[in-house]
Amino acid sequence: MAGCARTGQAAARDPGPASRTTVPPTTIVAPATVPRSTSPPAPATPALTPTPAGAPTDDASPPPSHPGPVTVPILLYHHVRASAPLVRYSLDARRFETQLDDLVAHDYHTITMQDLVNAIRTGAPLPERPILITFDDGNRDALDQAFPRMRARGMVGVIYVVGNRIGADGFLTRENLRLLRDAGWEIGSHGMTHVALSDLPAEALADEIEGSKTAIEAALGEPIHSFAYPFGVMTEESLLLVIRAGYTSGAGLGIRNEHRPDGLFYLSRREARGTYGLEAFRALLGPPG
Ligand SMILES: [Zn+2]
Repeated sequence: MAGCARTGQAAARDPGPASRTTVPPTTIVAPATVPRSTSPPAPATPALTPTPAGAPTDDASPPPSHPGPVTVPILLYHHVRASAPLVRYSLDARRFETQLDDLVAHDYHTITMQDLVNAIRTGAPLPERPILITFDDGNRDALDQAFPRMRARGMVGVIYVVGNRIGADGFLTRENLRLLRDAGWEIGSHGMTHVALSDLPAEALADEIEGSKTAIEAALGEPIHSFAYPFGVMTEESLLLVIRAGYTSGAGLGIRNEHRPDGLFYLSRREARGTYGLEAFRALLGPPG
């Protein structure tokens, strides 16, 4: 199925969210705390013994510091196929392996969207050379082709699924989603029906953003935290509803690898096209060329 193909091309030419919303950054307010996908925060425990000032504690994690902009390439894939022609939205699995091996060779480490959000909002530490590998549409080949190759290299991904496609032919089932989740992947919403979130009646918009969250959470058995705008299209109404629904991030399209606090709800993702050779792929990891 075409997935993002039709209007994705138009969206990719779009200069970004600035042209689509008049919401000033100061209105983009997220909850103060963001749960991590990989290690839920430990409940607060009152200290029984006062700790002398300056004494070391048993907290192994460095204290959060330096919240703010974070530079992390966020790659966007659609299909990874066992054998694919040179087309934009389907990547041949051997090319995918070459890209993964290149990331390993250059010491990149995959993180989840929640890891990125926590780093931006609280200064939570990230591994050296962090990178996000995301997949849109919830295609079955993410499990069959991408997952085993990433798992073999110690990598995790983020997959944005369409609410009403869960279990449909060619798409991931709820069991598939739980398997990926259990392997450390993050699951997010890509809407309920994969329509662009523009010019929709309020009820339909709510179903795309809030209804899909409910549906995917029911399939997964736990909350989800990230939304990816179909075709990269965001409006003022959809942005506000994404925030109101309780998501802590929104994934869009763009050409930047630096992500700022006021951009948490339209994070720039760079599309790794099926037509890209290794040099074009490597170009995604650095500043826009
Ligand atoms: Zn899509």
